[in-house]
Amino acid sequence: MNFQPPKQYAPDPNLKIFLNGRIVPVAEATVSVFDHGLLYGDGVFEGIRSYGGKAFRLDEHLKRLEQSARAIRLELPMTREECAKATYDTLKANNITDGYIRLVVTRGVGYLGLSPSRTECPCVFIIASQIELYPKELYEKGMAIISCSVIRNHPNAVSPRIKSLNYLNNILAKIEALDAGVHEAVMYNHQGFVAECTGDNIFVIRDGVVQTPPTAAGLLEGITRDAVIELVNKRGIPFREMNLTRHDLYVADEAFLTGTAAEVIPVTKIDGRPVSAGQPGPITRQLIGDFKNLVNGRM
Ligand code: PMP
Repeated sequence: MNFQPPKQYAPDPNLKIFLNGRIVPVAEATVSVFDHGLLYGDGVFEGIRSYGGKAFRLDEHLKRLEQSARAIRLELPMTREECAKATYDTLKANNITDGYIRLVVTRGVGYLGLSPSRTECPCVFIIASQIELYPKELYEKGMAIISCSVIRNHPNAVSPRIKSLNYLNNILAKIEALDAGVHEAVMYNHQGFVAECTGDNIFVIRDGVVQTPPTAAGLLEGITRDAVIELVNKRGIPFREMNLTRHDLYVADEAFLTGTAAEVIPVTKIDGRPVSAGQPGPITRQLIGDFKNLVNGRM
């Protein structure tokens, strides 16, 4: 049997990885099969973008990492300053100015049992590379999505506010999207309200009002979501955080998704129903422009 990954998914052999305090070649950047991050999805992470050599909203990402870690009672072995330095060291080691950073903290190596008290110390690694979540042309043309049957985790199970290594809930939804021939799926919460997509937050626009589900709907408090809300306010566009139903998606004038990897991408079809006549809407286009200016330091 051949367990080699297909060639296109093999990591660049020249990558340098930050692993537990050292920058090492990717071939040496390995974690144990006894790591609870692998055995149980026990850990937390951040996805961060760098633009022009500056990690966008790094402090906010590291704050969220700390909060995720607190929620699962994982003591981070590095301070915020050390994490920031390690992030920039990894970018530098790979000569990356514009790219994507994945900062992961696992519970670490432990006994074959769930208990975090029987693990040694957390494992920290940072990958600096590139990511293209969706084909480039969809940023111009807009993207079709579905709303799926898999609901987002109940807030009293694994809270969606924790950016944990346990993404199986979202992966099940992603599989549903891929089966339907689209790239992304909207997930409802246990009450039937819109929560978020598998790796992005969702916004709709109706009658000139930008709307997005509130945190209480059970979603990751996206750093990009926050940035876009600021941009909406800056333009003086009416904005509401409100519970949205499937119907609100179907009658939206415009829709878009936000995320670090996704950035801001227009949605032009939901469950087969065209949004804004199948073209990215005018407010969406403005916000995409504003977001580009913001991340490139022109705002
Ligand atoms: N929701 C989920 C489930 C995510 O995984 C992400 C990030 N990939 C987001 C929303 C967007 O968050 P951010 O803007 O902080 O990347």
